[in-house]
Amino acid sequence: MAKTVLVTGASRGIGRAIAWGFAREGWQVAVNYCRSKTQAEQLAEELRAFGCNAAAFCADVSSRQQVEKMLLEVHRVLGPVHTLVNNAGIAQQKLFSDITEEDWDNMFAISVKGGYHCAQAVLPDMLRRQEGCIINISSMWGQVGASCEVHYSAAKAAVIGFTKALAKELGPSRIRVNCVAPGVVATEMNAALSPETLEGLRLETPLELIGAGEDIAFAVCFLASEKARFITGQVLAPNGGFVI
Ligand code: NAP
Repeated sequence: MAKTVLVTGASRGIGRAIAWGFAREGWQVAVNYCRSKTQAEQLAEELRAFGCNAAAFCADVSSRQQVEKMLLEVHRVLGPVHTLVNNAGIAQQKLFSDITEEDWDNMFAISVKGGYHCAQAVLPDMLRRQEGCIINISSMWGQVGASCEVHYSAAKAAVIGFTKALAKELGPSRIRVNCVAPGVVATEMNAALSPETLEGLRLETPLELIGAGEDIAFAVCFLASEKARFITGQVLAPNGGFVI
């Protein structure tokens, strides 16, 4: 029977590409969304038309209650989750002095606490089966820091620490935990950037490319595959060489 992957924040952007990546490799796909119900349900429908057993599940990952409810539903519809991809995230550009406590808490609630909630919710099944995979989406800014994105960079750095510690703890249970830290990818997250800024980022990237969601999806699918059975606690960085 096909394995199940749960991709958080899969209604659009990188998450959507990751959902497609797993579908193409024969997985069952749980598409999580928070606000974009229509897009998520449409994606699930497209995946089913492709021949993949897929469904959309609503939950704000920052809510423990909603995540636990979602997991019960995923389990009922698609069985136990073999691989969790903690992809849901938000971005915000602000001077550090202008970041409010609410901005800070919201950033960490979604990007860091969301991963913690989802990982704890999938773990009982993984531990029982002594197999599983957790892949956390960080960012190159979590590795080197970005000006005017201090809370985003700090949260994405926390995701890397979370990955490494959890990998050590869960290794003996045969559960691998890895991280993907993308460079600049053309999604709605970057819609606020002017064409000039985006072009500047492209030229600053050694490969002179802006990434596509598929570039990230390939890295995630590789880490979930048996080919990566000896890889845990690592940060894979599809970023065109921006951060080396
Ligand atoms: P995006 O296009 O803005 O999509 C964000 C996704 O996250 C949406 O599906 C959204 O779902 C979901 N989301 C937001 N808040 C949520 C919540 N509370 N609960 C559940 N889902 C939530 O962003 P993206 O560019 O695809 O980014 C995906 C991930 O890659 C993020 O973690 C981001 O930090 C990381 N990343 C992106 C880039 C880049 O250049 N784009 C670079 C490095 C890392 P709804 O619309 O349904 O709310």
